[in-house]
Amino acid sequence: MCTCSPDARWAGPRADAPECSPAAAPAIPRAIPAFVRDVGTISVFAVYSRRPHRHRSRPPFSRGRLTDLLDNSTTSSLFIVTNPIVQSHNSPVYRFAVGDFECAALAANTWEIPSPHPFFAPQATAEQFAAALAKESLPASPIRLYFNVLLIRNGRQNILIDAGFAKNSVPAVFDVASNLSALGLTPSDIDVVILSHAHGDHMGGLLDESGKQVFAGAQHFCSTEEIAFWTGPTPDFSESRLDEKSRASSIAAARRIFESISFTRITPSTVLPDGLTALLAPGHTPGHMNFRIRSGSEILHHMMDLAHHFALMPPHPDWTVAFDVNSKLAAATRREIFPRLAAEGVRVFGYHVPFPGLGRIQVSGDAFRWVPELWNAHL
Ligand SMILES: [Zn+2]
Repeated sequence: MCTCSPDARWAGPRADAPECSPAAAPAIPRAIPAFVRDVGTISVFAVYSRRPHRHRSRPPFSRGRLTDLLDNSTTSSLFIVTNPIVQSHNSPVYRFAVGDFECAALAANTWEIPSPHPFFAPQATAEQFAAALAKESLPASPIRLYFNVLLIRNGRQNILIDAGFAKNSVPAVFDVASNLSALGLTPSDIDVVILSHAHGDHMGGLLDESGKQVFAGAQHFCSTEEIAFWTGPTPDFSESRLDEKSRASSIAAARRIFESISFTRITPSTVLPDGLTALLAPGHTPGHMNFRIRSGSEILHHMMDLAHHFALMPPHPDWTVAFDVNSKLAAATRREIFPRLAAEGVRVFGYHVPFPGLGRIQVSGDAFRWVPELWNAHL
């Protein structure tokens, strides 16, 4: 049994009393640096402490190399830390407004894909693929994908568009349910969930590890075409480049979701939450949707999976990805929607473009480019 004072325990383990390790100690709130100063590459934390502590070791909030710990044994401690990184990731939540609606981009994950070509852009040569990424100062491998879930609060309902990966299905940094807590929300506060299409990176987060609904109190929507495709007797992958094994696992995952959750089918006459309209954007999947969020004079177009990478699809709308159920139709849909977005100059949100996913599609030569929106401290 550790007999140290609570303040002493968070000072870390000591050789003569291993039971005084942070793991053995009861949960004690982490010390909050009262004063921080950088001296070259060294950060100095002065931390208030109510009692003197006897152990001189690594405090639990320092994940890096603690080079020294000075204790004046009275009312404060001085930590000199060469690695000042305390948080291991950036905030996965970015808030913004669309008219009177409060919205937030919730990062569901980021994913580095090694050897992405020709899974991505099979129409391009390796040189063309590398050149497209080099134009944005990016390497040809790996490429980083983003997964941006959109939360819309229209004053009456909290609406999620998609839900990210299933927990623990891929090496994930974030999950949507915990991201909501940063906004003071829990999954039970979500009133409406709209599934853009039934791919694992969009629908996995609808169920927890035990197969229970994460947003159990929400009404779930998905397009009629999407549900019909995945739950039909023989989903048609004749225009897809996806291998047999991946097709089978995609079908099984989609069927599990549609069997576990009761979805309201979206048709052209379906009434969606205030300010929200859906439009079919088929090709990536047969029922893949885009959305318009409108409040007052402000509009946000959610282009969803029209661009899996900002450096690939806007400048080359005919470049596809093996995940496309019908790659020719996916390209045709891009060729139809990108010019409209560019002509309107409308604000655009994308699921796979760099977080927080906001920007615009502009004409560039005989194609397009993604222009990200600048970070804004204000909603
Ligand atoms: Zn996707």
